Amino acid sequence: MGAIDDEAAAWLADNWRPERSLGEWWSALAESGWGFPTWPAGRFGRGLWPEEAARVTALRRRLGALAPPSGIGPNLAGPTLLAHGTGEQIDRFLPGIAHGTDIWCQLFSEPGAGSDLASVRTRAVLDGEQWRITGQKVWTTGAHRARWALLIARTDPDVPKHRGITFLVLAMDQPGVEVRPLREMTGRAVFNEVFLTDAVVPAANVIGAVHDGWRVAMTTLANERNYMGTGASSGGSRVDVPLMDLSMPVGEVLAGAEAEAGRRVPRLRGYPLVQALAVERELTGDPVVRQELARAYGYGELGRMTGVRVQAATKLGRRAGPELSVQKVATSRTLRHLGSLALGLEGPDGMLAGMDAPRGDRAFEVVCTAFVNSIGGGTDEIQRNIIGERVLGLPAEPRLDKDVPFRDQL
Ligand SMILES: Cc1cc2nc3c(=O)[nH]c(=O)nc-3n(C[C@H](O)[C@H](O)[C@H](O)COP(=O)(O)OP(=O)(O)OC[C@H]3O[C@@H](n4cnc5c(N)ncnc54)[C@H](O)[C@@H]3O)c2cc1C
Repeated sequence: MGAIDDEAAAWLADNWRPERSLGEWWSALAESGWGFPTWPAGRFGRGLWPEEAARVTALRRRLGALAPPSGIGPNLAGPTLLAHGTGEQIDRFLPGIAHGTDIWCQLFSEPGAGSDLASVRTRAVLDGEQWRITGQKVWTTGAHRARWALLIARTDPDVPKHRGITFLVLAMDQPGVEVRPLREMTGRAVFNEVFLTDAVVPAANVIGAVHDGWRVAMTTLANERNYMGTGASSGGSRVDVPLMDLSMPVGEVLAGAEAEAGRRVPRLRGYPLVQALAVERELTGDPVVRQELARAYGYGELGRMTGVRVQAATKLGRRAGPELSVQKVATSRTLRHLGSLALGLEGPDGMLAGMDAPRGDRAFEVVCTAFVNSIGGGTDEIQRNIIGERVLGLPAEPRLDKDVPFRDQL
């Protein structure tokens, strides 16, 4: 234990009380800097390295204290604003993110622009002091609850595709924004289609320079890979549900999340879940099951070690770099293996959804959410391309449209 651990442990012991309201607890975490310790001091953080912050998280978990707000606001919008926003923009948007009062979503993907994100067609046209936005986005997680959106839109179609994009912050609550839910195979509707028709963004909400939004978006994506690479966004993360009644006592929030976890998602996650399933089904003596359990454990440990090395490489430049793709691919493999193992252990019953399934829907949830990490935030194939080109220095894929004005690609 170092000085940081001692200070964090003392603060947590003094401040964590389950009877405090959620709003009070999140504000205390934000104002103390212990909620987002890697953010700069004076900006709701303490300027810690990721591995130091991980020790703070471990201390908080050991105490059973609720996590700070999570999701797209703190994990994507916060770091992007800190890297590219002006002081005024940071002052305006960061408090709502840190205190958990504002929900954010990410308006990046479009029907024709997923892996090839630089092909976005949503247009932003300057009209006096504001931008008018028209286009369609898709797979937008949490758009139905969000107050703010990170948006990329085309502002100059006369230059090659990566150069004519601008990064903006859009208010979701306005007449030009229509959100339509998309139902997933889990039965839930977490993501949406978003139709933008003459939606308005003030000029003061451009992050970075006009037409230079690709650079800003790369920061958002690197942070998304970091977030997803830790497995935080897959299965069971709903204990950190970001939108709640801020006046609720934190203890009740935790109890509610536990009850929800018991109803919809496995209480146990990762290796402990498949281990428990094997014990429950009396299969721990089966050589094939033992082999697969060993593989699941090994993947988990390998993922953790990869994470430590990646964080160390990232630390050199104090930025989220392409190395994060390694961690994301490792996590994808672990989650897919856990999904197929959970299903194998449950047998045919594992394909049933809902609590009226013979043993609940634990395996079903693990199988369905195992894909999230392999697609969201850039698919595994795209991560492998990034690793090949930007980490290993292998020759780049041929890109015939690199120097062609976007208008000529339509
Ligand atoms: C759970 C979830 C949540 C999401 N949330 C959001 C969100 O909040 N906001 C948002 O903007 N987007 C979101 N997305 C969208 C996500 O970013 C895209 O689905 C992803 O980038 C892939 O794009 P696509 O679906 O268009 O697939 P495509 O790009 O059409 O890819 C199809 C297949 O082709 C492969 N492929 C494509 N190009 C290459 C290449 N160059 N080399 C090798 N293989 C290639 C891909 O790997 C994939 O297997 C979410 C997706 C999921 C699954």
